[in-house]
Amino acid sequence: MPGKSLYEKSLDLFPPVANRATHLGIVKGEGAYVWDETGRKYLDFASGVAVVNCGHNNPFVVKKAKEQMDKLVHGGHNVVYYSSYIELAEKILGYVGSDYKIYFSNSGAEANEAAIKLAKQVTRRPGIISFKHSFHGRTLATTTLTASNAKYRRNYEGLLPSVYYAEYPYAIRTGLSEEQEVARCLAQLDEIFHDLIEPEQVACMILEPVQGEGGYIVPPKSFLQALRKICDEHGILLAFDEVQTGFGRTGKIFAYEHFDVKPDIMTLAKAIANGFPLSAMVARRSLMDQWPAGTHGGTFGGNPVACAAGVAVFDLLEGGLADHAAEIGGYFKKKLESLKEKHSEILEVRGLGLMIGAEFVDKQGRPDAALVANIQKKALEKGLILLNCGVSKNVIRFIPPLIVEEDQIDQAMTIFTESVEESLLVH
Ligand code: PMP
Repeated sequence: MPGKSLYEKSLDLFPPVANRATHLGIVKGEGAYVWDETGRKYLDFASGVAVVNCGHNNPFVVKKAKEQMDKLVHGGHNVVYYSSYIELAEKILGYVGSDYKIYFSNSGAEANEAAIKLAKQVTRRPGIISFKHSFHGRTLATTTLTASNAKYRRNYEGLLPSVYYAEYPYAIRTGLSEEQEVARCLAQLDEIFHDLIEPEQVACMILEPVQGEGGYIVPPKSFLQALRKICDEHGILLAFDEVQTGFGRTGKIFAYEHFDVKPDIMTLAKAIANGFPLSAMVARRSLMDQWPAGTHGGTFGGNPVACAAGVAVFDLLEGGLADHAAEIGGYFKKKLESLKEKHSEILEVRGLGLMIGAEFVDKQGRPDAALVANIQKKALEKGLILLNCGVSKNVIRFIPPLIVEEDQIDQAMTIFTESVEESLLVH
């Protein structure tokens, strides 16, 4: 009798998990592949949700982490300083700009908590503008910011006060032109300022420069530039959540670079250390310098091993990995666009770099989550791991490790095409 699988054991051990893409129990990862407990190999186009940007067990990152482990595993950033902590801060700030400082923590949600605490503390204003279809985490405060599914809030009433939700451009859904869509969203923001909270009462606006869980939605450049202007006019801090978009995912090290808009605050996590738990909140020096010492902190933030891995990640990105993501992402997107030409059920292929989404609809043009779930299932049977996203769960996201090569994209495209075509036959 074979023993229980990792999945079967998990049912006894953990609370229920929503929308798990697979029931795979994995035992090994290398580059763009993972192996399950039966020895079967899969192409991983989910990257642990955009985490292993440098590939599973990237040898350079692992080597740097091991070297650090041999020297020091824990430092405690409230007590002492250590070199990998300083080195990673220097790398990130060296890239973002010398007028910024950084604070390390352990998860994306925690970095966002830090961002809104800093914004409230420094501006002494109560209000926060978040955006519809956003995802910022699931701690109590970040659950308030997250506006992509009411289930995240059920029975957690009494969340943060003074949070208002603005529209995020999604022209393919509203059917408006890009210009009209931006105007619609800005008019709704004006309404919030008129009806609900004066802009001078708003501490910050927080948004993903490209929405992730909400459906891989890329806003027009003019939208982010208009928000920058509005923030400047009213002394509102502009915070970008780059937890999913950061570290080369969009073909640039940070997504803000695509829009020529610099945020006052930026949050980072996921791919920052290629799988080691680490996150960061970067903010303008003038803001960080006003944060009263000791009003925010944590025990494990900026772990030495995670920071050493982070330094290695940054070296790889600057050494050409982000450019590779841009180039191969273009190759991948073209292939997906030609598949779209053949199937009216693919409403849109969109994205930047290797952050690509394909939105599916039924014959009547309505979001088709069942079709997407079927495609994912078939792809998995054929050895390709894919995730969905979107408020209607009708978008497939393609987020392979950035080290992915053309032949792996070709292999994934073959599996994906077959999975789409077989799913449409029975749908
Ligand atoms: N922000 C964004 C944009 C995210 O995609 C996520 C995770 N999906 C988070 C925040 C939360 O990060 P974590 O799960 O590390 O708390």
